[in-house]
Amino acid sequence: MCGIVGFIGKAPEKVLLEGLKRLEYRGYDSAGIALKFSDRMDLFKAKGEIKNLEKIVPNETTARIGIGHTRWATHGKPDETNAHPHVSSDKKWAVVHNGIIENYIELKTKLNDFGYDFYSETDTETIAKLIEYFYKDDCNVISVLNKTISSLKGSYALGIINKEQDGIYFAKNKSPLYVAKCGNEVMLASDIICFKGFAEEYYPISDGVFGYATENGIEFYDNLSKIDVAPIPLNLGDYSNLNTYKHFMLKEIFETKTAIKNIIEYYSEKNNINKFDGRDISKINRVKFIGCGTAYHACLLGADMLRKKAGLDAEAYVASEFRYQDVCVDDKTMVVLVSQSGETADTLAAFELAKENGAFTVAIVNVEYSTLAKNADIYFPIKAGVEIAVASTKAFSAQLSVLNIFAGLVGERLGKNSDPLYDVRKLFECFDYGNINDFKLLADVLRYNDSLFMIGRGDDYYIAQEASLKIKETSYINSNTYYAGELKHGFLALIDDATYVIVFATDKNVFTKTVCNAEEAKARGAKIILFTCFDLSEADAENFYYIIKVKELGNSLQSVLNIVPWQIIAYYTSINKGINPDKPRNLAKSVTVE
Ligand code: GLU
Repeated sequence: MCGIVGFIGKAPEKVLLEGLKRLEYRGYDSAGIALKFSDRMDLFKAKGEIKNLEKIVPNETTARIGIGHTRWATHGKPDETNAHPHVSSDKKWAVVHNGIIENYIELKTKLNDFGYDFYSETDTETIAKLIEYFYKDDCNVISVLNKTISSLKGSYALGIINKEQDGIYFAKNKSPLYVAKCGNEVMLASDIICFKGFAEEYYPISDGVFGYATENGIEFYDNLSKIDVAPIPLNLGDYSNLNTYKHFMLKEIFETKTAIKNIIEYYSEKNNINKFDGRDISKINRVKFIGCGTAYHACLLGADMLRKKAGLDAEAYVASEFRYQDVCVDDKTMVVLVSQSGETADTLAAFELAKENGAFTVAIVNVEYSTLAKNADIYFPIKAGVEIAVASTKAFSAQLSVLNIFAGLVGERLGKNSDPLYDVRKLFECFDYGNINDFKLLADVLRYNDSLFMIGRGDDYYIAQEASLKIKETSYINSNTYYAGELKHGFLALIDDATYVIVFATDKNVFTKTVCNAEEAKARGAKIILFTCFDLSEADAENFYYIIKVKELGNSLQSVLNIVPWQIIAYYTSINKGINPDKPRNLAKSVTVE
């Protein structure tokens, strides 16, 4: 969600625009940059896509410093006035900000009383005015920054420049921010993908840390003390190359098998699998899985795996609800936080609550340098590689695979005899992407539907939820999911002969019951699409409008084999409807606001 770039060096106008384009995948609604020249500072802002900004930024300038921003509006509509950078009243300071300043009304009121006027509706503008206010009586900018961030409540990644100074100030709290240097050039960014081609290593910035970068180097401060920060090697692989694919979504779906291979390789190493070494988890009596969106669906399945493999009481929660549900969390609770980015604001808030209550925390995260990965007691990387498309695909399958290993490890610790890697190895052996032509044919049918129904039981129901989310995200079809047994308790009223009901039935224990529920819908005119891993007799098959068959795996990672076809179907439905599946409307990749 939104992004920041800052640059000191040659042609900042070009570097900033390129950086903002790399951040586009995160979602935004307007963009802007500030360029500092020897005698002035110029601002450029545009609503909508980066290409609108590109049209108004000069091709070549003599500037050596600049900051840029993509905004995902939280306070004030997405227009040019509210777009960042925001400036102080004397126009000497320019600020770009990702996040939310929770006490901005209080700050704004005080600043109003001191005579400051505001031109935008944003929370961010208060930061520019606050810096100006402190700087009036204190020309030590480090001390001014310390006072400024001490006054802010909420989340922020900040890039700040001053018309009369040759550097970029920065600060971070709960929103991602990194800095890198190459020779005497410096880049600041909210995602390390901006550093690709610029630097071989980068500096992570911890919450509460701020600093100053110039051509001569980077200084980091915690309160008023200078601190050392160790660089981390930049290791991004070939993430930005679409190869022969038209979209990242399809490319990433077809990277699922590689992700599973990476997981097996990584967790086959003794040092990597022994995550619980030196940890006593014998007193843990319940486990809470927390995530949002796709990660929440992974949590539902993860909780199920843990119940089965470790016999522990395990439940899944939507992160944004967790804090308000009075759930019991104490030092006997293990809290497992699942997030692709590791920066999901709701999940981070749940993490903090878990820590405050003494829980043992586990992060299951893709982005290895993220806040969650860094701060949880134990971190399980999911090894999916960079995921660009907004709709998560390979990361979901990788989350399930790692959750399965995690459940096996907990089971092993608690005395259950199992090989934590057994299921994932079997998945890898069996894995294929299915019959793409069948999926395309179904996508041709689905494009004409405004609404869809999906039903299932147990894990099939959870996968139906994730399939439904993919269809909603990429194809804007109102797809609803119900427990198969719930049909007759209300939603049969919605069924008529224009309805398509998709039946997820890959669990042999409940296959017959689930199919009987589908019959109830068929009797009221619905067209039934069966999704299964079992062979049907010709007579049985005639009951269905369409059948999609996947391989049978026989363990809980069947869910991976089950979701991949729906990711492909969602992709082709999106293409059929002329939608860009990589960037669905109104959505952002990394949801960094609560
Ligand atoms: N809260 C700020 C605004 O609405 C920043 C939003 C963002 O992170 O892009 O302008």
